[in-house]
Amino acid sequence: MIVTRFAPSPTGHLHLGHAYSALFAYEAAQKEGGRFLLRIEDIDPVRCRPEFTAAIFEDLRWLGLTWEEPVRQQSKHMHQYAALLFKLRDAGVLYPCFCTRSDVVAEAANAGHAPHEGPDGPLYPGTCRQLSDKEAADKLAEHKTANWRLYVEKALEITGPLTWHDRAKGKIEARPQEFGDVVIARKDVPTSYHLSVTVDDHLQGVTLVTRGEDLFRATDIHCLLQALLGYPTPDYHHHPLMLDAEGKRHAKRDKSVTLRALRESGITVEEIRRKLSFGGS
Ligand code: GLU
Repeated sequence: MIVTRFAPSPTGHLHLGHAYSALFAYEAAQKEGGRFLLRIEDIDPVRCRPEFTAAIFEDLRWLGLTWEEPVRQQSKHMHQYAALLFKLRDAGVLYPCFCTRSDVVAEAANAGHAPHEGPDGPLYPGTCRQLSDKEAADKLAEHKTANWRLYVEKALEITGPLTWHDRAKGKIEARPQEFGDVVIARKDVPTSYHLSVTVDDHLQGVTLVTRGEDLFRATDIHCLLQALLGYPTPDYHHHPLMLDAEGKRHAKRDKSVTLRALRESGITVEEIRRKLSFGGS
């Protein structure tokens, strides 16, 4: 049976782009008589707020969506992510990194160039990968905490080449190396977006991951983590992003297009659905 999910982060109020993504996942499940899940991706203790979580429930109910209870809230499952982090560390594919953002820029400047750009910003030059076990252990003792990065090249040696399937674009060859050694666990929490999303989609039995095109290449990393953790790779469908009148993507900072602002201005759910081309409810 098909299982889809909508997985917002409670860092602001939902806007039209989220409504599109939520309806897309919901209808994909409905069309095939499947299940729809809602998940709250609140691993970031600074940016996520409980009032935004409450607002997400309210806005999605207003849109007419229903979902299975209990809703998985990532902040309540840190111990699970930590256990999988140890598993990856024991497999020898992680290393602790003590660099700050400015260290990364300075390192590139020393090498005589600006940092190389990956799909997600400057590529990590791999400085801490060179540390010996003893140096890493000493630094861990000194700093108490570190970012844990995925040694992508080594991970790919273990898994071999990987592919995944997108319902819109077909078979995709994974190129996680384009992101460089991504952070898998942050200094402040024993996880990251990449780890939590991969673990949860598996644990919740999601069979079709639907989400915006902006996360298309991130799937390469998730596919690599699935192979390392022994998870099957689900099917994916990355949908186009909703653009505003100026052709820019909706962002949480655009207060004018939050669902609650639209609702307060008197717009109906039917109008929203029409605007997003989802037809009548
Ligand atoms: N939590 C992510 C976001 O709000 C979405 C993650 C996903 O759908 O994979 O952008």
